[in-house]
Amino acid sequence: MHDPASLRTLHVNRFQAEPAIFVAPGRVNLIGEHTDYAEGFVMPAAIDFATLAAISPRADGKIVVYSENFKEEKTYDAAALPPKGSKHWSDYPMGVVSILAGEGHAIPGFSLSLWGDVPLGSGLSSSAAIEVATALAVSSVIGANYPGPVLARLCQRAENEFVGANCGIMDQFISANGAEDHALLLDCRDLSFKLAPIPASVALVIANTMVKHSVAGGEYSTRRAEVEEACAVIAQHRPEVRFLRDATVSDLEKWGGEMSPNALKRARHVITENLRTVAAAEALLNHDMAELGRLMAEAHVSYSRDFEGSCVEADAMVALAQDLPGLIGARLTGGGFGGCTINLVEKDQAHAFAEALAARYTTEIGIVPQIHICHASNGAHKVN
Ligand code: ADP
Ligand code: MG
Repeated sequence: MHDPASLRTLHVNRFQAEPAIFVAPGRVNLIGEHTDYAEGFVMPAAIDFATLAAISPRADGKIVVYSENFKEEKTYDAAALPPKGSKHWSDYPMGVVSILAGEGHAIPGFSLSLWGDVPLGSGLSSSAAIEVATALAVSSVIGANYPGPVLARLCQRAENEFVGANCGIMDQFISANGAEDHALLLDCRDLSFKLAPIPASVALVIANTMVKHSVAGGEYSTRRAEVEEACAVIAQHRPEVRFLRDATVSDLEKWGGEMSPNALKRARHVITENLRTVAAAEALLNHDMAELGRLMAEAHVSYSRDFEGSCVEADAMVALAQDLPGLIGARLTGGGFGGCTINLVEKDQAHAFAEALAARYTTEIGIVPQIHICHASNGAHKVN
C-alpha cells in the first residue's frame, strides 16, 4: 500500500528539497454506470488504493514532474505551458496545471513526484487519483483552497479539455470527497450528495478480470451517441427532457419505437440504472443488504444485456461469484469491456471468497485474476 515516507525519501534524493505530500484515492463504483453524463446518479466509494503527490517549489521557473510508476521525468517551462496533451502520462498532472493557470493563477516552478498503487487502466480511476493529488499539491504552492466539489470539476476539465478523455464527473468527485466507511450517492446534475454508511461487517472485494478489450474507446463514443439519440427522440415529445435523467420508463414505452433498437436498449439501461442507484442508497441507509445485492445483480444484467458494456470475462467473474459463501452482490464496475467487478462480501468470508473466485476464474477463463479486499476510504487530503 502507499507509503508517504518512501515517496518523501525519493523526492528529497531527486530534487534536494523537502516536499509537502498529498494523497488522493482511486474509487470503485457500487452502482450507477453510464449515468453520470446523463446528469443522473452514481454511488461510488473511495478505496484504499491511492496516488501520492510530493511537491516542492523551484527557483528556476521549471515544472519537473516525475512518476515513480513510469520511472520517468519530464520538464516543462512554467511560463510556457503546453495548450494540449501529448498522449503521455504527464498530460494528467499538466492538464491540472493548465486548467489552474486558466483560472487566473500565476504558476511558479515546482518539482512534483508521483507514485500510486491504483492499478493503471483497470477501471479504478488512477487518472482521477493522479489529477486530484496533483490539484491539491499545486493548490498548495499557488495558495488556492478550492472546496472538494470545485476541485473535482477542475480535474474533470483537465481530463476532458487537456488529456482529451470524455469522462463524466464521478471519478474526480469521489476521489476529492470520499468518506471512510461510506458510499457516496452523487447527483451528477447539481453535485449534491448524500453519504451512506457501509456496514463494518462488509468488505469491498474488487476482482480484476485482467482484460480490457480494445473496442472500449470506440464503443464508449457509440454508446454516448446512442444515449443522445434516445434523449433527442423523447425531447421531441417532451421538450423539458434535456438528459435521460429527466426521462422515464413510460417515455420509452410511448416513443421507443421511434428510436433505433440500440438507442432504446441503451436508454432503458440508463433510465432504470438511475432508479436502481437511488434505491441502492436507500437500501444502504436502511441496512438492507439483501436489497442492495438484488439491485446490483439487476444492474449487471442491464449493463450486460441492454447497454452491452460487459464482456465474456466480466460476465464470468460475476456469474462465478454467485453461489460463493458471503456474497451480497456482484457487478461489473467502471466504463466496461473488461476491468473490474465489485463484490460486496461479508468481511469474515472475504478471504475465502477471494481465493475461491480466483480459482474458479482461472479454471474457466485461463487467466489468473488480481483480487483486492478493500474498504471505503477518505477522499483526498494532505499527508504531512
Ligand atoms: P483508469 O483511470 O481506469 O486507471 P485511465 O486510462 O483513465 O485508466 O488512466 C490511466 C492513465 O493515467 C495511465 O495510463 C497514466 O497515463 C495515468 N496515470 C495514472 N496514475 C499515474 C501515475 N502514478 N503516474 C503516472 N501516470 C499515471
Ligand atoms: Mg480514468
